[in-house]
Amino acid sequence: MTIKTKYSGILLFTILQVLLSLNLMGQNSDENPPNFVIIFADDLGYGDLSTYGNPTIHTPTLDRMAYEGQKWTNFYVGASVCTPSRAALLTGRLPVRSGMANNKTRVLFPDSKNGLPHKEITLAEQLKKAGYSTACIGKWHLGHKEQYLPTNNGFDYYFGIPYSNDMDKNPSIPYGDYWKQPNDSIKTEHFNVPLLRNTEIIERPANQNSITKRYSDETIKFIKENKDRPFFVYLAHNLPHIPLFVSKDFEGKSKRGLYGDVVEEIDHGIGNILKTLKEEGLEDNTIVVFTSDNGPWLPFKNNGGSAGLLRAGKGTTWEGGMREPAIFWGPGLIKSGLVSELGSTMDLFSTFSALAGVAIPKDRIIDGKDLSKTLLKRETSPRNSILFYRGTELFAVRLGDFKAHYITQGAYGEFGERKEHDPPLLFNLSHDASEKFDIAAQHPEVIEQINALIASHNSNLVKGKDQLAERE
Ligand code: MG
Repeated sequence: MTIKTKYSGILLFTILQVLLSLNLMGQNSDENPPNFVIIFADDLGYGDLSTYGNPTIHTPTLDRMAYEGQKWTNFYVGASVCTPSRAALLTGRLPVRSGMANNKTRVLFPDSKNGLPHKEITLAEQLKKAGYSTACIGKWHLGHKEQYLPTNNGFDYYFGIPYSNDMDKNPSIPYGDYWKQPNDSIKTEHFNVPLLRNTEIIERPANQNSITKRYSDETIKFIKENKDRPFFVYLAHNLPHIPLFVSKDFEGKSKRGLYGDVVEEIDHGIGNILKTLKEEGLEDNTIVVFTSDNGPWLPFKNNGGSAGLLRAGKGTTWEGGMREPAIFWGPGLIKSGLVSELGSTMDLFSTFSALAGVAIPKDRIIDGKDLSKTLLKRETSPRNSILFYRGTELFAVRLGDFKAHYITQGAYGEFGERKEHDPPLLFNLSHDASEKFDIAAQHPEVIEQINALIASHNSNLVKGKDQLAERE
């Protein structure tokens, strides 16, 4: 090699390095797309954070995030139980479209055969198109077989449990003992839930006392390792779903008891994640969202959470089942304030795709709305309706302030049997968030509008092939 060719080679290499460092060769050539961290609690209710009115659970980190960022008070999940709610968040679609909804087998179990169909596009797969590093840390619950795990759904890394922390029980312990108060007789070894890293089982049973801390630590490690490129972390805590477990540092600390200890440990971990974002200089270009997959599991009394002023809880299409706390934090991006307009976990798919510069798939119906202008500029939310499905049946619809219930049914034997309503029950949620005062007789015109919305929704609805019923 002549000296001239050698030097021109070095020059070319240097130019390439400069271009790469300026991110001029990537897909997002003229921008620095934001990082995203979604923190998804399990069975935490609308009334379980101090910033949403809980008098004894202290959540200083989430309170600060709500103050510095946007606190949403009319934010909904896509279903009132774990599996379909998670499918909705990650695909931006109603679970009835993907087949991740069933009227009897409402979630996946350790002997379920199927999982999220491969033709579905997850938010992680969307963000991979823009070169994001992606991690799923925590509870998955969209199929435990290898082909359905996060690493086959757009996530580069997975650390967590594949289904709920109360599944895989030790058969020698009576089922009813798992949620007696106090909880100190319940041990992590009474369960056989596996802990996975990527697709390998690394611990069985998973030590649930240390699991909340380990999820937070894994998130921090992933952020540090990926600080030089855009990243997306989906941190899905498997608590405060029963059985409740907490590390020694938080045991007996909350005035609310064990449930409060668990929520306060989650809040503490979020504090450490925010501290890391600050130390790494990432806080101005990162959006952190906190919400929960469904309302509180009320039959478990003090071991379950609270929906605050909302009616009923997990498993129902009453407000307590599907309206959740939702906090968006990002000091360099989010315009702070209280948002009482409508939002949904399905909107995260469309919003984060837009912010990352990734086109929304055109070959399917996406139910998510792009909330980016509401988050960044405080424009009015583009969402004005919410569909409340139980399994594959549409039970209720919210349009603006009004919500009509066509079918109501309690969960787990509580809050009443299945009832059909004609005319539907009608509530004005801005005046009556607790759904106490039926005003259907006074507002036939609202019911007509909601009926028209349902007819339009049904006109192009294709229900996906069921994925939850088949068991081994
Ligand atoms: Mg749940």
